[in-house]
Amino acid sequence: MGGAKRAMEEQQDRFQMGLALCIEVDAIEECEHHPGTYYQSSADLDDVYKFANAGVSAGRIKLPDRMSRRDLTDAIKAAYEDNSGLDYCSSCDKIARS
Ligand SMILES: [Zn+2]
Repeated sequence: MGGAKRAMEEQQDRFQMGLALCIEVDAIEECEHHPGTYYQSSADLDDVYKFANAGVSAGRIKLPDRMSRRDLTDAIKAAYEDNSGLDYCSSCDKIARS
């Protein structure tokens, strides 16, 4: 596997990890009607950082090789910023308006 491809997959894995943490803390919610559609929920980004840091310290969250706490923070931020902004599902909203 080439280095570029591996780096891309690693990036995706990190993003997924960040997203999963955002969902666990309830900063991001997945629409129950539209799997794969995410939107902003009640918790703050800071809450996710705290949860993740505590989890790593407690050994509950295992960081993959070559991934630092800083990388995890970046991944959480990227996932949050990608899926926040709306506090409702845009697909459900479209259906409601049509
Ligand atoms: Zn929806």
